[in-house]
Amino acid sequence: MYVDSHCHLSFPELADRIDDIRAQMAQASVDRALCICTTLEEFPAVHALATRYDNFWASAGVHPDSEDVQEPSVADLLALGAMPRVVAIGETGLDYYRLAGRSVADMAWQRQRFRVHIRAARTSGLPLVVHTRSASADTLAILKEEGGDAAGGVFHCFTETLATARAALDLGFDISFSGILTFRNATELREVAKFVPLERCLIETDSPYLAPVPHRGRPNNPSYVPWVARCLAEIKRCEVEVVAAATSANFERLFRRVFAEPGSEPPRS
Ligand SMILES: [Zn+2]
Ligand SMILES: [Zn+2]
Repeated sequence: MYVDSHCHLSFPELADRIDDIRAQMAQASVDRALCICTTLEEFPAVHALATRYDNFWASAGVHPDSEDVQEPSVADLLALGAMPRVVAIGETGLDYYRLAGRSVADMAWQRQRFRVHIRAARTSGLPLVVHTRSASADTLAILKEEGGDAAGGVFHCFTETLATARAALDLGFDISFSGILTFRNATELREVAKFVPLERCLIETDSPYLAPVPHRGRPNNPSYVPWVARCLAEIKRCEVEVVAAATSANFERLFRRVFAEPGSEPPRS
């Protein structure tokens, strides 16, 4: 059984196909998924998936690329994080990839937003889902400054260097690999995956984007996450069942409100 630790089922590409996607997931032995929130405006739709289906859970957060949206306060995030079946704060972090003519200095609002999420995670005891792109030094520095290691969490859809992976692991964060791992040109990332201990690895689709080979270029969905697991098993030179079991156990440990028993209401920590 596989877990997709990061997907966007509330996005328009997928939201109208949930029944179909759930059937495909069952067929592919993908038994659980974490539905990720990217704006406060989107949260009700993400949360509805988690309350409607007992094998979906939700996060609460505002993506660094989300602009012209409601800015979250620590109190906003704490309120959402306290709701049933919300198991993480995020996705949050820094993204300097699309500066659109701005300088890194201009992105102070992103850094402030990230700090707000870390404070909410620390206070709530919920782990962070961290998005970092072209901004790994600042991401790590802010996590350290804000005591993000007390919350822990995951660097999702990891595409950074081995040095960044090592620093994230040292801070107590796990590393999640997406379909990018299967891309032909992702040689360096596969080296990173070789380095990250299996007991610190998660797998995800980040659907609807980044469909793994052999589905590359098509809309992604959680039923494709076994392709990421197969690739990781090749890298680790082990059976795919070993990767499935380890990444599922890691998911349960990290998002500790998730219980193996579907439908059970997780305890408040
Ligand atoms: Zn992301
Ligand atoms: Zn995402």
